[in-house]
Amino acid sequence: MGKSPRVLSIQSHVVSGYVGNKSATFPLQVLGFEVDAINSVQLSNHTGYGSCAGQVLHADELAQLMKGLASNGLDHYSHLLTGYSGSPTFLKGIADAVKQLRAKNPDLMYVCDPVMGDNGRMYVPEELLPIYRDVIVPLADIITPNQYEVELLTGQKVETIDDAWRAVDIFHNQGIKTVVLSSTELGDEEHLLGLASSVIDKERKKFSIRIPRIKGVFTGTGDLFAALFLAWMYHSDGDTKLALEKTIATLQGVLHRTHEFAGEKPQGFELPRQLWKSLNRIRTGHGLCAHNLHKWGKLPRPSCDCGAPNQTIQHIAKDCELRAYQGSRADFFNATPPCLEWVANLDVRI
Ligand code: ADP
Ligand code: MG
Repeated sequence: MGKSPRVLSIQSHVVSGYVGNKSATFPLQVLGFEVDAINSVQLSNHTGYGSCAGQVLHADELAQLMKGLASNGLDHYSHLLTGYSGSPTFLKGIADAVKQLRAKNPDLMYVCDPVMGDNGRMYVPEELLPIYRDVIVPLADIITPNQYEVELLTGQKVETIDDAWRAVDIFHNQGIKTVVLSSTELGDEEHLLGLASSVIDKERKKFSIRIPRIKGVFTGTGDLFAALFLAWMYHSDGDTKLALEKTIATLQGVLHRTHEFAGEKPQGFELPRQLWKSLNRIRTGHGLCAHNLHKWGKLPRPSCDCGAPNQTIQHIAKDCELRAYQGSRADFFNATPPCLEWVANLDVRI
């Protein structure tokens, strides 16, 4: 077996909860990475709570750690991942770390999440912007800004998808190979829109992905996104489209579970048992459709009575000419009355 890829992840640490390195480390390990973590800060909890307490790592302390790694020959990494950084001097220190790691491994893949703010508001000191823009971002191979961070870095307003692609070109012109806008408000009421663009061997490829919105506000998702995207780019040999799809699929799974465990009962929990069960079968895609029954040897054919060759749960809910639900897929997660009526009146077993 070949050597595991090794990533140095420089991000925040929280004692309680999952943001920064707490959000990135385990998924990277599960995906086969050796993960070394430097904690830019160590806080009791993330800053969305009423208060938080803890320590901040200073630039000279980062330099000490990097020196310690070097003196034992431990600074050979295949990947560098950086996220939240709260001070200008620490951020400048990251530029030195990149140079040190590239000297050891010229093929180092640097994934930079230029964490600065969201929804028109900066949550780091303003002095960080020129350092990201002029020093850090140009060193990266892959960047994962959100819509607002793209506006800050390029100085261009991003109000349409065309605006976004134009802004992305500014990064490509700086030599950044892959640019991913992890979330934008360029979708619709029910979807966020993710955008990715890569230029490899002068060939430009652009992808967009509709991300079903999940009710609630989540923290640490951007950190999880960057870690997963790094891992899937590695495992897919740089296939941006596949890496984006895998990343979003994992986030959807994690966020649905988070939503269900978050105190509040999942939408529809109080429904009669049979209806609740059927609703969840639609939500998860695991049920008694012909595709699954055939797979389990209980039906001779996986086809649907509408003529389609493969009757999956998704087919029944979305595509079936005889019975597909006409509303939005998000209705199933929100347990809206029209979708419950549709589930209750379904004429096939699921
Ligand atoms: P950023 O730091 O880029 O603003 P976000 O946390 O907005 O990051 O988004 C990162 C990813 O998390 C998105 O690509 C999306 O997959 C997921 N995500 C975050 N919030 C939601 C939500 N309310 N519904 C669905 N997906 C979400
Ligand atoms: Mg982010």
